[in-house]
Amino acid sequence: MTTALDSVVSPAVRDFLAGERKLLIDGEWVDAAAGATFATHDPATGRKLTEVALATAEDVDRAVAAARRAFEGPWSRITPSERQRLVWRIGDRLLERAAEFAQLESLDNGKSAGVAQAVDVTWAADIFHYYAGWATKVEGRTIPVSVPWVPDAQWHAYTLREPVGVCGQIIPWNFPLLMAAFKVAPALATGNTVILKPAEQTPLTALLLGEVIQEIGLPPGVFNILTGYGEAGAALAAHDGVDKVAFTGSTEVGKKIVDAARGNLKKVSLELGGKSPNIVFADADLDAAVPGSANAWLFNHGQCCVAGTRLFVEDTIFEEFTQAVADFAGQAVLGPGLDPDTQVGPLIDQEQLDRVTGYLRQGLADGARALTGGGRHGDTGFYVQPTVLVDVRPEASVVREEIFGPVVVAQPFSAAEGVAAQANDSDFGLAAGVWTRDLSRAHRVARQLKAGTVWVNTYNAFDTAMPFGGYKQSGWGRELGEGAIDLYTQVKAVNVQL
Ligand code: NAP
Ligand code: MG
Repeated sequence: MTTALDSVVSPAVRDFLAGERKLLIDGEWVDAAAGATFATHDPATGRKLTEVALATAEDVDRAVAAARRAFEGPWSRITPSERQRLVWRIGDRLLERAAEFAQLESLDNGKSAGVAQAVDVTWAADIFHYYAGWATKVEGRTIPVSVPWVPDAQWHAYTLREPVGVCGQIIPWNFPLLMAAFKVAPALATGNTVILKPAEQTPLTALLLGEVIQEIGLPPGVFNILTGYGEAGAALAAHDGVDKVAFTGSTEVGKKIVDAARGNLKKVSLELGGKSPNIVFADADLDAAVPGSANAWLFNHGQCCVAGTRLFVEDTIFEEFTQAVADFAGQAVLGPGLDPDTQVGPLIDQEQLDRVTGYLRQGLADGARALTGGGRHGDTGFYVQPTVLVDVRPEASVVREEIFGPVVVAQPFSAAEGVAAQANDSDFGLAAGVWTRDLSRAHRVARQLKAGTVWVNTYNAFDTAMPFGGYKQSGWGRELGEGAIDLYTQVKAVNVQL
């Protein structure tokens, strides 16, 4: 099948899709040991983009062995400034090839190519540049020690921050390149070696990142890519040769990662699901709060772990505000990511379409009312109408569970009674939003919310320097900022009697 948009696909992206897409192990592009491949699809049309090598446990063994050799060998001898230079160049190469990365991401994931370039690729490059800077700035301390049972001695005690070792990194499909950058950049900058397992739905930009990293000339085995299904991720998480596993995805699989990691007690960091509250007080700048609160759950078609999908609106403005959000969302232009007019693209696949429309049916059966949307859009591609649900019961699945589509549930609150208890009534704690002109209320509510990130009078305002991660069942550990340095290094204490 061809579409009118095929002509905008660049020759570089066409070539990439026409080539054989293999695994990256020990600095070589290789077939899977079992020789199998799987298809990746364009969610806007459902058509196959290309075939990709399907890694199995045998390939995990090969990649882990290569990553171990590199970690103990050449990579351990590279100086911090050389690591800085290499990681920095990855960021440069991402910017040089930004349009290509963005188109490929759009084709594989369904997101707008314009947004992919402005947000996903630009930010991914920034993350490599940011962590390049850290390569030369990870320092230990000197510690004044006493050791009271050794009288009259003198000591020189200090700490070293050393890399953790071989890192398995398992990422989801919603921000494929960006999630790779979150994990790969700090791991490499701090001297670890990496085995990256992209999501089966979106393997392509990880493979293009692999090409870029190959060109830059990292020693073989420092960066490996295993495309495949969940079984490859499971084998990586369970492997005794892996020192750390970093995972972003569903809370359900996050718990499986914890179980798998127990064999060798590898270090685990998790960035999991969310059901984030976004709170609007009547005194807020409503001209900003309406689009801000709509984009909080519309961005990336709702396929964001931080999506502000529980909208709490002060009761005095509830009806007018939710209607304004519904009007804003109802006007969003749905279409393929390569169309520059598109605001909301397709969901990633049939499974997610079925899952999201299933939640909508259940929510409506449970008594909710849709101010806009409520079901599938069109009959090709995996589009869902942006949907605002009101009259929801607090125990309904649409209120409690992560839907991962363009769906928000709106509930009123009374400012006199406070909103924190309602907002915190969730198993998740990833992010939250607060909209108010009252400065002290903004800070007070920010303290009350059990969430890893709180945005005030904005939403989705990320920065590489800000730590990111979850309270409660939204995760373990903090990525971005200095937080990721803690995830990818371990502290050694050395005490010398002088
Ligand atoms: P998922 O199953 O958690 O997938 C995330 C990653 O884990 C993928 O690379 C996946 O590989 C891999 N994986 C699957 N099973 C594994 C296992 N047993 N051991 C190790 N790795 C494993 O997410 P999903 O099925 O794609 O999406 C389901 C739901 O998860 C969504 O509806 C959404 O609620 C949530 N989700 C959350 C985030 C987030 O950022 N918090 C991101 C994506 C999805 P395969 O792709 O090959 O299965
Ligand atoms: Mg795909």
